[in-house]
Amino acid sequence: MNSTPGNKPDSGQHLLSILQQTGALLEGHFQLTSGLHSPRYLQCARVLQYPEHAEWAGRELGAHFAKDGVNAVVAPAIGGIIVAHEVARALGVRALFTERESGVMTLRRGFQIAPGEKILVVEDVVTTGGSTRETIEAVTRAGGAVVGAGSLVDRSGGGVDVGAPRVALLTLDVPAYDPSDCPLCKQGTSAIKPGSR
Ligand SMILES: [Zn+2]
Repeated sequence: MNSTPGNKPDSGQHLLSILQQTGALLEGHFQLTSGLHSPRYLQCARVLQYPEHAEWAGRELGAHFAKDGVNAVVAPAIGGIIVAHEVARALGVRALFTERESGVMTLRRGFQIAPGEKILVVEDVVTTGGSTRETIEAVTRAGGAVVGAGSLVDRSGGGVDVGAPRVALLTLDVPAYDPSDCPLCKQGTSAIKPGSR
């Protein structure tokens, strides 16, 4: 659990503490929606339900891209919408979001990007980088030029390449185990489903 090199360590520390305070980051023995078990459970919506925390996070993330001449911020729905809104507020630009249409990430709702507009793509959490990459593709198809990608948390261990300069406020290791090979199960505790309580 440490800050990504080059990021301000204080913002990572503060994010970690508000994730813990708001129950967005739980420690224990959890069964994830994938069926895998983990000692950590992360649900960023629980921190973003507080506008003051969302505003702070948007300002911190936006600051990393303040010199990039960003014209608009784009995020994949639903998890990224509040992050895009707050980063856009901090940078004084528009906030757009993409949605899946027939399985393809697309700008809908009449959202438009002018040719060559500089776009920052953001998300709440990067796990595999898949939805950031799909959003970058949607922006590129629409004529935008992606200048960077940001997330509040990177749970990939920092190894994901999305083809654009990437910043995360906090890098977090979230191990996932097959139940048959789960060290926590072997200690005799049983996994709980965080959403079910
Ligand atoms: Zn287990």
